[in-house]
Amino acid sequence: MSGAFKNCRTVMVTGASRGLGLQIVESLASGSYSPGKIIATARDPSKAKELQNLAGKYSNIHIITLDVVSQDSIEKAGDQVGALVQEEGLNCLINNAGINVVADFQTVTAEKMLDNFHTNSVAPLMVTKTLLPLLKRAAAGGTGMGIHRASVINMSSLLGSVELNWGDRANNFKWYPYRTSKSALNMVTRCMAVDLEEDGILCMALHPGWVRTDMGGPEAPLSPEESVSSVLSVIGGLTEKDHGGFLHYTGEPLPW
Ligand code: NDP
Repeated sequence: MSGAFKNCRTVMVTGASRGLGLQIVESLASGSYSPGKIIATARDPSKAKELQNLAGKYSNIHIITLDVVSQDSIEKAGDQVGALVQEEGLNCLINNAGINVVADFQTVTAEKMLDNFHTNSVAPLMVTKTLLPLLKRAAAGGTGMGIHRASVINMSSLLGSVELNWGDRANNFKWYPYRTSKSALNMVTRCMAVDLEEDGILCMALHPGWVRTDMGGPEAPLSPEESVSSVLSVIGGLTEKDHGGFLHYTGEPLPW
């Protein structure tokens, strides 16, 4: 990803306490062209020791409290991000925070569905709505689309693909809450892409691969470093042709 974030001044990552979010912050901070401000949000920063250590090492990491399922928390975080970025605005918002409520047809309940839906599909929309003035500020007067201007990256999943959940593949991961929450996130992404296009704000959904995090588990083939290296290269290379798209971490388009 060397140089991929060269023209990105401000980036914000939700769910940066561990897993992919933490790795994104670390890789951005230690990269050769590190953004001026890396805003790492966590719902309880006091418990995010690794993130705190990183912020002690890299002065461009700013930790802000954000519980993405609380509107009050989103608004408070929005004010703090605004005070940090000021006239620069926000070039790149990575909606990464997510949960996996495992339930199959037998065990699924309405509560489990709504719980997963709130964090994975509704929260990225509410966070983006609140940060819109800062994204618009970064986009104003710019040309083209990408992280040099303003962008919203929604961390989705291949498991949200309706088309791919068929045939042999349909026998694995019969997770109703998670799969449907990511399908809904994909539609949220597409709706926002339609609405924010005239402001020059790129919106897309990205599958990070199957990764060895708390969520991905120990059997996953990719390390967080491997995934995030590709994820940041893809994000760094986004242009108008990727607006409204759903991409694999390798950069290939995925079927909806
Ligand atoms: P982890 O479970 O390792 O980490 C999840 C992160 O989200 C944690 O930082 C957690 O914070 C945060 N989070 C959860 N709920 C909230 C909330 N209400 N407010 C703020 N933060 C919250 O997951 P990964 O790092 O593996 O996943 C990151 C993203 O990538 C998710 O959206 C996931 O769906 C997606 N993804 C992951 C894959 C994988 O194989 N790992 C595959 C495909 C997609 P806390 O520490 O406070 O709980």
